[in-house]
Amino acid sequence: MRKLHFKKAIAILISFLAFTASLTALSASPIERSKKTVHLFAILNKSITEVPQKTSTRFSEIESEKKKNKFITVRDLRHHSTKKYTRVVVDIDRPVRYEHHRIKEPDRIYFDLINSKMGEELKKKIISIDDGILKAVRISQFSQDVVRVVLDLNSIESFKSFLMENPDRLVIDISGIAKQEPPISKEPPFYGVKRIVLDPGHGGHDPGAIGKRGLEEKDVVLDISKKLRTLIKREMDIEVILTRDSDIFIPLHERTAIANMKEADLFLSIHTNASPNRNARGVETYLLNYTTDEEANRVAARENAISLKRQKEFQREFQGDLEKTFGDLERDNKRDESLRFAHMVQFSMIEKLNQSYHITNLGVKQALFYVLVGAKMPSILAEVSFISNRDEEKRLADDLYRQKIAEALLSGIKNYLSSKNAPFTKTTSGETLERRDKTF
Ligand SMILES: [Zn+2]
Repeated sequence: MRKLHFKKAIAILISFLAFTASLTALSASPIERSKKTVHLFAILNKSITEVPQKTSTRFSEIESEKKKNKFITVRDLRHHSTKKYTRVVVDIDRPVRYEHHRIKEPDRIYFDLINSKMGEELKKKIISIDDGILKAVRISQFSQDVVRVVLDLNSIESFKSFLMENPDRLVIDISGIAKQEPPISKEPPFYGVKRIVLDPGHGGHDPGAIGKRGLEEKDVVLDISKKLRTLIKREMDIEVILTRDSDIFIPLHERTAIANMKEADLFLSIHTNASPNRNARGVETYLLNYTTDEEANRVAARENAISLKRQKEFQREFQGDLEKTFGDLERDNKRDESLRFAHMVQFSMIEKLNQSYHITNLGVKQALFYVLVGAKMPSILAEVSFISNRDEEKRLADDLYRQKIAEALLSGIKNYLSSKNAPFTKTTSGETLERRDKTF
């Protein structure tokens, strides 16, 4: 009984103190209020955590001073012309303070980015535009800590500039009285492709394959997908949708449904491979089709979370459904595009990753994956490495390796898009598909 009374008394005391604290805090402005609340609770906790205040303040001052002095890096300069306006984008690594001025003879506007340095890869750059609004855009290191962007004007009505984030960039929109149609770029980069769906496999209660050291497929592929999303957003003018961008479970058929509903132009499912044979290693890319390859069927069965026996039954059922659902032409066309997409992604992964690692090329394969069934757009599934292999699990745990995979996938997407109008057997490098991949 006495114990109970004592507990009650403590509880009442605590709620009284908290109440007093919130009353005092309420009488101040919101910022003051939060400061006061923090302060009050700090006093309450003082006896437990006695922090030498001065040292920590000095330390944080030094830290913030360091941060203040660090230059903002200007990474790239891009532009985009439409009939009504020209958009100039300056990629930076964090928000920048800037000012602009307009000067005559010749007519130009310049933007000074304060406390900034040109990035390593961005040397002095001039983009010739000539779209009737702008003649050109130039960028250079104007002084030690100022990067200057100059817009050479042709005929403009007005302009506005603003900062955007994720990724950080300065955007300058120039409206003009365009006298002529903007010339069609010689290499239209995206060929009408507006939207891509990235599908990080598994998630939530489904971890996917698990490595010997405990690394889970669901975490690796989510991270790679997010990295890839950042890269696509930075470098391409297309929308990126992730079927999941957190650790949640989404049934396989819903993933394709998302892509169909959003009218995506491409679908890329990202997975890590696994095999009972711990020596199995390498990279392979799949498209949806029947197969007699036992190994491919085994991979699909695992990703479909069904037995190999059930996988083979599914093949038989699928054949009937496929013939009922699609006309030959539509089916063949989508298969051809998926095949091309798969080859470009596989080729880029091998080429890019081999620059820093030794990668086994397992080629382009086909099998029936639930997640690709019913997709209306070219759709593929990439098995980016074996999580069941000791060495590859170690690599997959490494942030840099994941970044390299994302970069390789980006390059695969770009190569596919820029090859869309090219003859099937040619790539941007002019090499034939047959030569680089014997499985084709
Ligand atoms: Zn998987």
